[in-house]
Amino acid sequence: MKIKENYSLERHNTFRLPVETRWFIEYDNEEELLRILHDEYFRESASVHIGSGSNLLFLNDYNGMILHSSIKGIDLTEETRDTVRLRIGAAERWDDVVAYAVSKGWYGIENLSGIPGETGAAAVQNIGAYGVELKDVVETVEAYHQHSSQKHTFTKEACRYAYRHSRFKEDDGSLYIVTHICIRLSKIPHLVLHYGNLKEIIISQYATLPHLSDVRNVILSVRKDKLPDPEQFGNAGSFFMNPLISAEHVEALKVQYPQMPFFRTEEGDVKIPAGWLIEQCGFKGKSFDRVGVYDKQALVLINLGGATGQDIALVAERIRTAVAERFRIELIPEVKYIG
Ligand SMILES: Cc1cc2nc3c(=O)[nH]c(=O)nc-3n(C[C@H](O)[C@H](O)[C@H](O)COP(=O)(O)OP(=O)(O)OC[C@H]3O[C@@H](n4cnc5c(N)ncnc54)[C@H](O)[C@@H]3O)c2cc1C
Repeated sequence: MKIKENYSLERHNTFRLPVETRWFIEYDNEEELLRILHDEYFRESASVHIGSGSNLLFLNDYNGMILHSSIKGIDLTEETRDTVRLRIGAAERWDDVVAYAVSKGWYGIENLSGIPGETGAAAVQNIGAYGVELKDVVETVEAYHQHSSQKHTFTKEACRYAYRHSRFKEDDGSLYIVTHICIRLSKIPHLVLHYGNLKEIIISQYATLPHLSDVRNVILSVRKDKLPDPEQFGNAGSFFMNPLISAEHVEALKVQYPQMPFFRTEEGDVKIPAGWLIEQCGFKGKSFDRVGVYDKQALVLINLGGATGQDIALVAERIRTAVAERFRIELIPEVKYIG
């Protein structure tokens, strides 16, 4: 176990904010986690469990305990003629899991290539990209409750997955600490290419019958072109979720904005790309002192150098207000504010 006092989180958040935490504790296994959960000082302190901080906004130094897992491992726990089941440690880098699955010829998560962060957080967030969400492959999530120290194994249904949502993001759910997840992948070729112009890009670069690794390569390269590298400009990917609005609301907006893009969800709501709304309000490519709105994707806020969490939160608020006034749509941050 690693315990650090007054520790800089600059390398633990992709906005690269140089905030400090009073305590930083990294555990290597479930026994160490249980020791922490039973510790009286821990039980009395404020705490947040983080992954690699690619979806966090620290508003201040953190006067409590930041927990981080070092539990790794990708274990093949079941293999049938058509599928494999993997049990993965929460600290495993998500994109390493994808690379491994693709190298083995296992289908299901290739569209989630290149998403930063760790596997435990991926299950909390229900990460998604290019028409696939983590929930599509999850079988179970193993987690400890911080108060009872009990271990629970949640089925996919019990995880209450929805768009960028799980029970672990709900008020009481955030008391769970994920240690492992199990996913099931397919050995039978099946590619999901319906999202945007993914199919056309792949076919133009590869054969009409693309291989699993072709999909991964194309997605990695499209993402590289579209999204800023946190090493260059601190960012947390999409700052806001794409809002869901009612069918009546979209009909009313379409009269005024006939070119407005939208997608119908299975539940009957309509999803509007938040990036389009922000762009319409004139924010794309603009900078506000040390905070920028990325010029290739208005949904991404970037640290131009030396920004604080408060600076970023202020720009986010300005965007939220502008979108609410113009479209009567409330943008909800995907990024989690801490402090
Ligand atoms: C450039 C860029 C591109 C991105 N693209 C995408 C994308 O395409 N799709 C997408 O969905 N996301 C995307 N993201 C957001 C981010 O990568 C995901 O949300 C990711 O899952 C966060 O993982 P993390 O390890 O960094 O978690 P963190 O940001 O550290 O934490 C995220 C949440 O998970 C909780 N958490 C972390 N670990 C655990 C654990 N073991 N147990 C319980 N709770 C835990 C934290 O408390 C927090 O609530 C992008 C981010 C960046 C910077």
